[in-house]
Amino acid sequence: RADAEKFQFQAEVSRLMDIIINSLYSNKDIFLRELISNASDALDKIRFLSLTDKEILGEGDVAKLEIQITLDKEKKILSIRDRGIGMTKEDLIKNLGTIAKSGTSAFVEKMQTSGDLNLIGQFGVGFYSVYLVADYVEVVSKHNDDKQYVWESKADGAFAISEDVWNEPLGRGTEIRLHLRDEAQEYLDESKLKELVKKYSEFINFPIHLWASKEVEEEVPADEDESSDEEETSESKSSEDEGEEDDAEKEEDQKKPKTKTVKKTTYDWELLNDMKAVWLRNPKEVTDEEYEKFYHSLAKDFTGEKPLAWSHFTAEGDVEFKAVLFVPPKAPHDLYESYYNSKNSNLKLYVRRVFISDEFDDLLPKYLNFLKGLVDSDTLPLNVSREMLQQHSSLKTIKKKLIRKALDMIRKLADEDPDESNDTDKKDIEESDSNEKKGQYTKFWNEFGKSIKLGIIEDATNRNRLAKLLRFETTKSDGKLTSLDQYISRMKSGQKDIFYITGTSKDQLQKSPFLERLTKKNYEVIFFTDPVDEYLMQYLMDYEDKKFQNVSKEGLKIGKDSKDKELKESFKELTKWWKGALAAENVDDVKISNRLADSPCVVVTSKYGWSSNMERIMQSQTL
Ligand code: ADP
Ligand code: MG
Repeated sequence: RADAEKFQFQAEVSRLMDIIINSLYSNKDIFLRELISNASDALDKIRFLSLTDKEILGEGDVAKLEIQITLDKEKKILSIRDRGIGMTKEDLIKNLGTIAKSGTSAFVEKMQTSGDLNLIGQFGVGFYSVYLVADYVEVVSKHNDDKQYVWESKADGAFAISEDVWNEPLGRGTEIRLHLRDEAQEYLDESKLKELVKKYSEFINFPIHLWASKEVEEEVPADEDESSDEEETSESKSSEDEGEEDDAEKEEDQKKPKTKTVKKTTYDWELLNDMKAVWLRNPKEVTDEEYEKFYHSLAKDFTGEKPLAWSHFTAEGDVEFKAVLFVPPKAPHDLYESYYNSKNSNLKLYVRRVFISDEFDDLLPKYLNFLKGLVDSDTLPLNVSREMLQQHSSLKTIKKKLIRKALDMIRKLADEDPDESNDTDKKDIEESDSNEKKGQYTKFWNEFGKSIKLGIIEDATNRNRLAKLLRFETTKSDGKLTSLDQYISRMKSGQKDIFYITGTSKDQLQKSPFLERLTKKNYEVIFFTDPVDEYLMQYLMDYEDKKFQNVSKEGLKIGKDSKDKELKESFKELTKWWKGALAAENVDDVKISNRLADSPCVVVTSKYGWSSNMERIMQSQTL
């Protein structure tokens, strides 16, 4: 368009578009999912605003919260239209080109190594997937606060914006027009689109309509032409009087049965998605496959991997809500990268079926931010601002119940994993059922174990429940992961404490002189090799009435030894000499120890001081 205002794409966005347009990625279908998801987001936004301002929706068709797909086979255009919030001119400039989101460069980087384009939605740049199938895209948009504009780009580094004086007014919302590439003509095929919408958008909570053709067969008198069609169609609307006439007509038909069948093509809006929300259904009636698909759409996770676990429940009492929680199969790329700046919760909040926000922080504590899911509350008020909701007293109760359910779900994942069980009989009985659950907890632990540890540090109320979920290797676990309960079940008679040692790696720790005597006496010692373990053990003092003992610290007691006193006496002078020789600034004390077997001496840290591993961690942090 000649008088359009031109803009350059931000550099990272431009690179992203190059990657997409040159991609050999075969699954080009994903663009449709991204566009429908954007349309749905836009509809959610306007519906949310309409809670406090009814006028905002407008009247008539404009107020219909729906998505419409149309195909123009001649011009090779696929259009997706929503009556959502729309974009002002400024929104178009910012959202579609000039402001790179944090995910943009992360995604570009990922694509250059081993990236799966399918993940595009998770990085917040899903819109640009349109260039997988189109070489020219127009975005027509009308926001309540601005005029109607057209954004257009051929993905050549620039885009243009002009006030729309060509198209029919949208009322409100956005229409994305894809001028399909030659090799993407399949997206003009109605049946293909129906199949895709079914596949990708089953859980979109707005009706999706396709302007679709319908073949209707009609009986017409053999010797008459199409002009009789009109009569046929008017039949359905006929009043009683006309009905009598019709009967007369039929009789006539029977007299001279010269009719023929003609096929006629009509067009109409066809509803493509079934809208009953999963979380409102009875859990008993939802299949595993439906939960899995629901997870994929909710989490925008289209890798095809199944969620590790889910929990679907209704809370009753003074605070009523329904919720579905999922443990994803994989941790997102940046889960622990910026933990303290990240969101607390990745749950979507609905109030009485209306989507409110997916940035509602107070639903879960930070350590559970790896969970995906949804909460639909009947107790929270609908017509107040997000800020007011955030203050609402029932949130505390919701949060408490969600944590409890989340931890139950994770414990169940462990309980049902045959690898976790010591009980071999049970394994045989449930073999077929448990095969699928085998190794699932280890998978969970490898992805999200750190979150459980952070939970122990942060959440005093649930510390014991979380400690049950801890896994680690020990001197006796034979390279496998084990739990505190399993450790306790193997404790020697008379053993009071749980022994552990911290360091950088299992290999290094296995050689530690601190272990000599303990291993010789057949005690089991836990290896803690993750930097976070040092912090963890400052919060985890005991478990099931057993105290934790760091074997590299002063004051280690390994059962009673009758010779202790005797030894102390006879080496009294030597101990004194050593203390003098090493000087007070180097060591706090010199003592007779019963922890060694082969090594003559060992340096230990004081009971209340930092372990040497902790000192190492602190040093690496300040450097
Ligand atoms: P994301 O949806 O993750 O934010 P996208 O690349 O899919 O990322 O979309 C970029 C932005 O463009 C959206 O955040 C939104 O602001 C805007 N946008 C895209 N499609 C629409 C639409 N149909 N209606 C209104 N705004 C839209
Ligand atoms: Mg999107």
